[in-house]
Amino acid sequence: MTSAALRIGVIGGGLGGLSAAVALHQAGFAVDVYEQAPELTQIGGGINMGPNAARVLRRLGLSPGLDREGVRPLGTHQRRWQDGRTLQRAALNPQCEALYGAPHITIHRADLLAVIAAGFPSERVHLGHRLAGFADKGERVEAWFENGARIACDVLVGADGIHSAVRAGLFGEEDPRFAGCVAYRGLVPTERIVDLGLELGSQSWVGPGGHFVHYFVSRGQLLNFVGWTEDDTWNREDWTDRATIARALAAFEGWHPQIHRIIAAADTCFIWALFDRDPLPRWSVGRVTLLGDACHPMYPFMGQGAAQAIEDGAALTACLARKGDPATALQHYEQLRLPRVTRLQELSRANKTRFHMPDGPAQQARDAEWARMNNGAGDRSPDALRWLYAHDPSAVEPAPV
Ligand SMILES: Cc1cc2nc3c(=O)[nH]c(=O)nc-3n(C[C@H](O)[C@H](O)[C@H](O)COP(=O)(O)OP(=O)(O)OC[C@H]3O[C@@H](n4cnc5c(N)ncnc54)[C@H](O)[C@@H]3O)c2cc1C
Repeated sequence: MTSAALRIGVIGGGLGGLSAAVALHQAGFAVDVYEQAPELTQIGGGINMGPNAARVLRRLGLSPGLDREGVRPLGTHQRRWQDGRTLQRAALNPQCEALYGAPHITIHRADLLAVIAAGFPSERVHLGHRLAGFADKGERVEAWFENGARIACDVLVGADGIHSAVRAGLFGEEDPRFAGCVAYRGLVPTERIVDLGLELGSQSWVGPGGHFVHYFVSRGQLLNFVGWTEDDTWNREDWTDRATIARALAAFEGWHPQIHRIIAAADTCFIWALFDRDPLPRWSVGRVTLLGDACHPMYPFMGQGAAQAIEDGAALTACLARKGDPATALQHYEQLRLPRVTRLQELSRANKTRFHMPDGPAQQARDAEWARMNNGAGDRSPDALRWLYAHDPSAVEPAPV
């Protein structure tokens, strides 16, 4: 069987599933995406695309859309929760472009999804298809959906998010774990906060039991904010749950006035509980594999969950393009990806502790360490993140002749 003949079914039309579909389609595979929702949507505000992911998307020819919709922050600025003192600064653009061949972008999720979806034939996205089950028959995989549809494909890819039905089918049901953290999220029209004179960058305020992040999206017209607090009074994971502005303000009581100004300038605030899972020892069984949050959900404290899902798609495509046995290609894919995403899952968890330290000796030691590194070579600088940003997920050895 040639690689061009392989039929690939991707379950889930989120950022991970769709970017994998674009990569696989461009490599000549016959790809179909099955999405449970009646339309392709991403709610939930902004997202950071590090240069590692932006480069993958650029290679897929998506630059015009990214350039049109994305914002290029000049740098990151970490500040202290109460007095706003600078703890660490690091440059992002244009340095990332020069160092890694792609910018760091901040973008609205819906805009990003639309940019990616534009690279894939819409007639091959099957909406309203909620996976109900699948069976690996050895030479092919059969899958069926709650709407009664049945398909057969050569490879099935579960890109169906943290509650993945494909993961459950492969490895059994297991509830994700509540992180004891909730996010207050909102979008503020930029003209309402002009007086703050915000730099074109990403600011992150760290304090006891929480941190607050804001950056521009939607061509600079909106400021996206996410305020994290350790709180176990809310454990619903639904992007559409709303909190009152008063509740969000109360969650950040005593924090810097800039944070209060930003929250108060929003019309609506959403509340969302954070979940994750332990790293999986494997992702693939036979001709079925997983991708993105389906196999490696992570706290968003490295800003890399979607970026790693996008890398997964590039690596999966490169492995399948070697034209060998599909099951072997899927093993190769997971071996390439597992160590890197496991490291990021662990770093993201560690950042929860690092960012949320109560004021005291440990926090002072952390601040002193950041201050020592605050000469352009801090742990968030493009140079220190070379291992993360320079990685090429499609670098797979060529097939033996
Ligand atoms: C507050 C917050 C901020 C974040 N910030 C960043 C950031 O700055 N940078 C970054 O890279 N990442 C970030 N992330 C992480 C990122 O959002 C996720 O890692 C990413 O969206 C995962 O994409 P995915 O395609 O794997 O899964 P999802 O986005 O969950 O997509 C899964 C898709 O599968 C569909 N689906 C589910 N079940 C079925 C089924 N049975 N049948 C058919 N379809 C199904 C769903 O409807 C959905 O469309 C953040 C996350 C949060 C919560």
